Amino acid sequence: MTIQRRVAILGSTGSIGVNTLDVIRSHPERYQVVALTAHQQVDRLLTQCREFKPRIAVVGDAQSAKQLTAAVLQEKIPTTVLYGAEALVSAVCDSDCDTVMAAIVGAAGLLPTLAAARAGKRVLLANKEALVMSGDLLMQAVRDSGAELIPIDSEHNAIFQCLPAGFNALHSDAARAECGVEELWLTASGGPFRSTPLVDLVDITPDQACAHPNWVMGRKISVDSATMMNKGLEVIEAQWLFGVPLENIRVLIHPQSVVHSMVRYRDGSVIAQLGQPDMRTPIAFGLAWPQRIAAGVMPLDLTQLAALNFAVPDFNQFPCLSLAFAAARIGGTAPAILNAANEIAVCAFLASEMPYLQIATLVEQVLEQVTATKAQTLDEVLDADQTARRVAMQCLTRMRTH
Ligand code: NAD
Ligand code: MG
Repeated sequence: MTIQRRVAILGSTGSIGVNTLDVIRSHPERYQVVALTAHQQVDRLLTQCREFKPRIAVVGDAQSAKQLTAAVLQEKIPTTVLYGAEALVSAVCDSDCDTVMAAIVGAAGLLPTLAAARAGKRVLLANKEALVMSGDLLMQAVRDSGAELIPIDSEHNAIFQCLPAGFNALHSDAARAECGVEELWLTASGGPFRSTPLVDLVDITPDQACAHPNWVMGRKISVDSATMMNKGLEVIEAQWLFGVPLENIRVLIHPQSVVHSMVRYRDGSVIAQLGQPDMRTPIAFGLAWPQRIAAGVMPLDLTQLAALNFAVPDFNQFPCLSLAFAAARIGGTAPAILNAANEIAVCAFLASEMPYLQIATLVEQVLEQVTATKAQTLDEVLDADQTARRVAMQCLTRMRTH
């Protein structure tokens, strides 16, 4: 018999959130939605509350909360409305959920994701920035509480599927050595500017950068995919999730986005996971693991594909990828600094306040100016994040006045 899971979705109005609800909608006997959170899209959240009737709904500010409360009262929807950053933790800890989809974008997702890990929930991790910022603390929380951490990022979900069950960062080095894992190969589409020379990217608009050839995603991750900062963040994410050293993680450009990632073993085997570029596959995998459920995804027809190509990335073409590797090598708070600078840079670019090519410049300046420390406590991580944001804003002001 299948036990019904009680699911909280952090970031339910975003691309991952909406896809998660789409999978859940087809399996009402297996999943009950108990909490939903959104930042500003009150109308979309109300529609979701109407359909899924969560116990708790969280919005960003008091004004949005007032608006949503009035609507749920009027329609007699049995949902308590809360607001603010602390309420995101309540959505995890007070909703009686056993499963948390962590799908807030950026550093804002860190505290509720950490709370879910500490509370021993099944954590479906889409919010890679949380792990990039504080991988050590998050993995420690998972270890201490016995939480289940299942990656939703398509590459990491693929690798999770290609690894033997006993292989993850929580197992001993000896147990892991027996598995014979040599390398993780993360695939990357290369984004919309894979073969565009840097000189032609000077006047790129936010809409052009967000027009990803294969995936439909939120705007921040779409820009990260164009700069390949996304792949850099994913390399750091893979280090933490699977406990594999940086030198054993490779990035391969694979424009078709069919092979979602691979594991190379000692005996010469390479195991890959293939599928449509549709996030409902990893989402359904995480929700149902270790079982499998229908995700509403079209079957993959390999005979319809002309070719599968793979190439090494050109680091000169993607300076953000180099910067992420540099931060990963430094370790400590360097990835948190990288992430914060990138969030400020992408936000400024999306607001048309800064040209596309300055994203890498800004991140590089912040990494040079903010010294990384060891990152042993949450306060140290949050401090590094705040300092990097402050320095990034100063650099941005300087760029604008030159
Ligand atoms: P999105 O922008 O579409 O949605 C983000 C969600 O987070 C929204 O519900 C929004 O209301 C909420 N949010 C934003 N800022 C917030 C704040 N300050 N406080 C509280 N909530 C806030 O983003 P997305 O594409 O769904 O991505 C979500 C996460 O999943 C990101 O970390 C991204 O890197 C990761 N991811 C996404 C995809 C994808 O296909 N979209 C694939 C892999 C990984
Ligand atoms: Mg990914």
